[in-house]
Amino acid sequence: MLRLPPLRHASPETIVEAVALLADDGALLFAGGTDLIPNLKRRQYPDAHTVVSLRRIDELHGVDVDPDGSLRIGALTTLAAVAENPRVPAAVREAALAIASPQIRNQGTIGGNLCVDTRCNWLNVPDTWRQAAEPCLKAGGEMCWVAPAKKECWAVSSSDLAPILVAFGASVNLVGPDGQRSIDVEDLYRNDGMAYLTKASDEILTEIVVPRPSGVRASYRKLRRRGSIDFPILGVGVALAFDTGGVCTAGRVVLGSVASAPLRVREAEAILVGRRLDSEVIAEVSEAARKFARPFNNTDLTSRYRKRMIPIYVGRALEDVAAQ
Ligand SMILES: Cc1cc2nc3c(=O)[nH]c(=O)nc-3n(C[C@H](O)[C@H](O)[C@H](O)COP(=O)(O)OP(=O)(O)OC[C@H]3O[C@@H](n4cnc5c(N)ncnc54)[C@H](O)[C@@H]3O)c2cc1C
Repeated sequence: MLRLPPLRHASPETIVEAVALLADDGALLFAGGTDLIPNLKRRQYPDAHTVVSLRRIDELHGVDVDPDGSLRIGALTTLAAVAENPRVPAAVREAALAIASPQIRNQGTIGGNLCVDTRCNWLNVPDTWRQAAEPCLKAGGEMCWVAPAKKECWAVSSSDLAPILVAFGASVNLVGPDGQRSIDVEDLYRNDGMAYLTKASDEILTEIVVPRPSGVRASYRKLRRRGSIDFPILGVGVALAFDTGGVCTAGRVVLGSVASAPLRVREAEAILVGRRLDSEVIAEVSEAARKFARPFNNTDLTSRYRKRMIPIYVGRALEDVAAQ
């Protein structure tokens, strides 16, 4: 059995208190703990000495609608609550429902999902296994054991909600020692398996703002080995707006789990604008996504297979939109 290392548990009741606790380098945020706890047990954060729980901070829970129709989802809202809330766009609810298992969705949060650590076949094993070789880049070593020819970390972005929230043009509020700021979910990520978030380590993601989805049609499609429980090995989020004549006025096509960050396929998005979503356009967009992506060879199933599945999953997501 894997055991946790000795840790101090802090349970602040305000965001200000939580931010102050994060000033200490070995302090880590704890929301539902469904990602953090297994990683701590595998000794992926050797310098950690404190977990700062966000669960007693009331203002981080719940879903509200602004007067302009945008949705504010508190970072501590559980995945189950997101999946069940009829005010949340259907494609976001479907993505939440595709995460892990019912037990994990009752415990895991939307904020934790957006900040979930990147995953790696080499690193995400007990440390006793890893001791067979030198540490990898992410563990403080000199090389990536997954892509030894590269000088970068190939851990894979594995959030199901990130691609669809990027597709919707959602933003997040961050609170840190210098106050509050808002950034697009798209800008929360960096394509680097180690420093995969652009936010500072002492910034707390407090809420997610989804713009009013009026007129937007969207879909999320997920590839994984087991339908009942598995991280995504490809996630496709699409959100398209149309004019009254059925012509696409704006659209986003976002791929998850192919790199260390969710990636927008701008070449594919450009094809959509000004066109009707018919089978010809769907085929062109799907092909553009296939050409664009080179899935990292660092998840379940082979990267070659995942690449072949990209146009199929993009096509299916767009067909969902066409059928709405
Ligand atoms: C068996 C299993 C299967 C899983 N399957 C999936 C899956 O299919 N899809 C998927 O996307 N995920 C999956 N996960 C990962 C995880 O359960 C979810 O991503 C979950 O939403 C994480 O939320 P949490 O609240 O538990 O985060 P935590 O574990 O508490 O935190 C995750 C990370 O985010 C940071 N963090 C948490 N909240 C905040 C915040 N408000 N501000 C700043 N940083 C924060 C933490 O410090 C930590 O680094 C799975 C996990 C397990 C164990």
